[in-house]
Amino acid sequence: MNEAIIAETKSAAREAVDKLQPKLIDLSERIHRHPETKFEEYQASQWLSETAEAAGFRVEKPIGGLETAFRASYSGAGEGPIAAFLAEYDALPKLGHACGHNLIATASLGAALGLQAVMDKLPGSVQLIGTPGEEGGGGKVIMAEAGVFDDVDVAMMFHPSGKTVLWKHALARRKLLIEFFGKSAHAAASPEKGINALDATIQTFQNINALRQHIEESSRLHGIITHGGDAPNIVPDYSASLFYIRAREDDYCDELLEKVKNCAHGASIATGARVEMEMQGAYKSLRTNMPLAQTFKANLEALGWDFDEIDPSKGIGSTDMANVSHVTAAIHPYLSIGPKDLVGHSTEFAEAAASEKGQQAMIAAAKALASTAVDVLLRPSLLAAIRAEFEAG
Ligand SMILES: [Zn+2]
Repeated sequence: MNEAIIAETKSAAREAVDKLQPKLIDLSERIHRHPETKFEEYQASQWLSETAEAAGFRVEKPIGGLETAFRASYSGAGEGPIAAFLAEYDALPKLGHACGHNLIATASLGAALGLQAVMDKLPGSVQLIGTPGEEGGGGKVIMAEAGVFDDVDVAMMFHPSGKTVLWKHALARRKLLIEFFGKSAHAAASPEKGINALDATIQTFQNINALRQHIEESSRLHGIITHGGDAPNIVPDYSASLFYIRAREDDYCDELLEKVKNCAHGASIATGARVEMEMQGAYKSLRTNMPLAQTFKANLEALGWDFDEIDPSKGIGSTDMANVSHVTAAIHPYLSIGPKDLVGHSTEFAEAAASEKGQQAMIAAAKALASTAVDVLLRPSLLAAIRAEFEAG
């Protein structure tokens, strides 16, 4: 493919994003002013999908069994790969858009509309996929299981952050509910007749505390007690706790899950309280597709952006994008929207998500994402390298 044609196509896509800039900023501010928490994002989902529809995209809604999920598609000139931009738009309880998903939403919308402007010169098609409930809902886990990403060749999004980072790990995560069932009795008059379910939960925490010293460094075990009894003068006959088990690799995460379950079984034997456990969701570990990531890097650097040097295994959480990355080639890069030490899920982060710096990052992300899709659609050798790495696992 002629390099001059690729460069021209990218610059036309970037110009289209420039023209849309006021509209994208306005929409990102509107979503920021109307925060909606997981799976309640009716307004944001409507605003995004109707904007794509008005521009000529074909909109399917709802999809994947989720009311606030949608897919907007636009075909180019002839058969070819599908490039998808993923939009998150849920906010956090009380804190509003303290994870900046309003910027993710409009960056992916901008990328889709920018690419649409040049689709008459490109094979394949572009999709804007609305993925709700990232914050504790695992929306993409549900959508991936429903097959929403099965036909997609590349899935891309950006995430706001303090630093600009091409890739870092995201931990595999298992959510485990642990319940104990004991026997109530008067705590003073006849304690010997009771079976203390709260003690079983406390013993479980102690067992996990002992386990924690002997696990791989990047792993995390953390939980809360969600029910600890009803009154001090009643031996608690029911207690419950919720644990997150996280690790770099999925296999090791499952190994740790079994060890945590054994901690609860041990507490059950010690106290006589019956235990029940339920897995409430699994995030896989994130797989970054390197040929795709390197293409994004070059396209963002072409806009004058630099990347921060970080240890990709430090300061990491989990994301439902990880489950998408096991179905198709994916990237989840970070662009700085404020000071480098900006902390996620804070009021400062929410302010940065409506700041001029945040909005400029959103526009840059839209341009770099659109340019990366141009590379994918016009360079068969790149797509082959992306697929080869994905298949290699
Ligand atoms: Zn987030």
